[in-house]
Order: sequence, then structure tokens, then C-alpha cells
Amino acid sequence: MRPARALIDLAALRHNYRLARELGGARALAVVKADAYGHGAVRCAQALEGEADGFAVACIEEALELREAGIRAPILLLEGFFEADELEPIQRHDLWCVVHSSWQLDIIERTALARPLTCWLKLDSGMHRVGFAPDDYRAAHARLAACGKVTRIVAMSHFARADELDSPRVAEQLAQFAAATEGFDGEYSLRNSPALLGWPQLFRRGHEGEWLRPGIMLYGATPFEHYQAQAARLRPVMTLESKIISVRELPAGEPVGYGARFVSPRPTRVGVVAMGYADGYPRHAPDGTPLAVDGRPARLIGRVSMDMLTVDLTDLPRAGLGSRVELWGAQVPASTVAAAAGTIAYQLFCNVRRVARAWHD
Ligand SMILES: *Cc1c(COP(=O)(O)O)cnc(C)c1O
Repeated sequence: MRPARALIDLAALRHNYRLARELGGARALAVVKADAYGHGAVRCAQALEGEADGFAVACIEEALELREAGIRAPILLLEGFFEADELEPIQRHDLWCVVHSSWQLDIIERTALARPLTCWLKLDSGMHRVGFAPDDYRAAHARLAACGKVTRIVAMSHFARADELDSPRVAEQLAQFAAATEGFDGEYSLRNSPALLGWPQLFRRGHEGEWLRPGIMLYGATPFEHYQAQAARLRPVMTLESKIISVRELPAGEPVGYGARFVSPRPTRVGVVAMGYADGYPRHAPDGTPLAVDGRPARLIGRVSMDMLTVDLTDLPRAGLGSRVELWGAQVPASTVAAAAGTIAYQLFCNVRRVARAWHD
């Protein structure tokens, strides 16, 4: 069997969920969209079910997978419905629904519903992607409240730059939200992982109407570019690992891999690892990207290919055939690999495929 695997630590997932709740002091929907950022939505939701206040996914297909697996907790559809015929299963499966556009309001108004909906009404406070503009928000809220089909409305918005710890945009978006929702004292939801970890000074702790929406932090990766004290308390959930399947000794001046991106500057011992971009390891990882071989720091050399990649073992004489290689995990932060490859840990996790996944407590 090919040794490439993703090990998923569910105890770490629970630790991170508890940290989210502790930092915000409020209820938290665990964001498990995109198959829990590649960690397995059903397994992650089952591991959190005893304690999570609910879950959030991108679409009804993802929600139904959780319902079919027996998850009874609230599930929010972060983009609501895409077509009118989703409303019937939304009611039948008791899903919560974001309403972000007036075409969705039109559909709710003209569709007969057997049961009332819980809607999260989205304000565009500055991201300029989806959500009602501040000038239209009150009218949208009034329409939803008046249509007779909605029992509960949660005001929500989403931050565009909370991962930039010196950005004035977080406070500006928050002020926009406060103005647009002034006088509503019901439930609301603003904070994703970076807002929750990085901006405690802006939010009232433990407000009973607040819903947190942690995603990436549940999986133990920092959303920030640099060290951040709260993010340092997270425990990585995924370990992506494989083994060395071939070793060769090259004299100085020999190329390794496609395109000869790496040429040995000295006599070099090269280890070949069963892991490639078809598994989700980023093809853009440059020479020098960190990894760990039998627990020791090592570096990638040569271009990543579809099924294999190469590491420099010259300074690790005890490493060889069968040595365990950690591509990311407790020793090699996924966010470090992501930064080296010009992307973010979110994308690395979501891209993991083909490798066997194994979940443990
Ligand atoms: C994905 C998502 C989140 C979670 O964001 P993280 O940065 O992963 O914490 C929260 N809210 C919405 C609307 C999202 O789409």
C-alpha cells in the first residue's frame, strides 16, 4: 500500500473548538464546509457533536451529507440556497439559511413553505462580495420579518482583512455593521477565525446573542502571517505524511527532477518521497521548503511531481529507505509550507486528496 496518509487528530479538533468558544465567550458554529477543509466533514462533525452549538457548510449538498450521517445539530448554509427548489429540503432537514441577495428574498416571498425558516441576513459591510448594501439592509430585514415565513433572523457580516492585524478595515466594517443593525437587539454573527483570535479588543465578550464562525482555527492552522499568541495555542489537526521509497547518491552538478530546477551544489544524497501534487502537496513549493524526515528538519529539493517529491538527505545520514516524512503537521506547520508555496493553509488542506485518511482521538 502506498504510504501517503493524512492523519486527523480529533482530540486536537475538540481542543481548538473549545479555544474558539473560550476566546469569544459565545456560541460557535464549527465551519465544516469543503469536507471540513479536507479533514472529513462527517468525522469532524461527529467528533464535535457533543459540544458544538452547530455547524456551517457552503451548500445544501454538504449539509445533507451531515444529516444523512445522523448529525442533528443546527446546520447553517453559508450561501443559503442557489435555486428555489432547495427550500423544500431546507425545511424538511431543518437547515438554517443565509440570505445574501434580493433574488433570494423574492423567492422566499413567493414560495409556499410548510414550516418557518431561520435566516441569517447578510450585510455587505465592506467585503463587497455578497450581502445587502448598508442602505438596503433595513428594508431587506423588514421584508424578511414581514413575509410570515421566517421565525428567526440573525444579522451577519464577514470580514475581509481580519488576518491583517494592523488593518483599519476591521473596525470600519464593524462600525458599518453597528450602524446598519442599530436597534436590532437579537442574534448576530461576525467573527471568523482571524477576527476571533486577533481582535478581542473590538468585541464584547460573551454577548449572549453572538454566534462565532470559526473555520481554519478548528484545524489548528494560524490565519496570520506572523506569530500570534492566541493562534500559537492551537493544535494542528492534520498530519500529512509518507515515506522514502528510493535513495540515490549524486555527485555535484547533477539535476534532480523535472526541468532540472535543482542542480546539486555538492555531492548530494537524494530521498524520493511518495507524495506529489496529485495528493495535494503544492507544486509551487520551492527548493528549501521545510519538511521533517524521521522527526528531523529537512528540505525539499527539485520540482514536485504528480506522485513523488525529492528531499535532501545529505545531512541526515541515518535517514533512508522507509524513513517517515512529515509534509506538514505538528513539526512542520501547514501555514509555513503554504507561505513558501505562495498560498494559504486553507488551500493546502482543501486540496488534500487521494491519500488515505485516518482519524484518531
Ligand atoms: C468560511 C467562512 C468562515 C470561516 O472562516 P475562517 O477564516 O476559516 O475561520 C466564516 N464565515 C463565512 C461566511 C465563511 O464563508
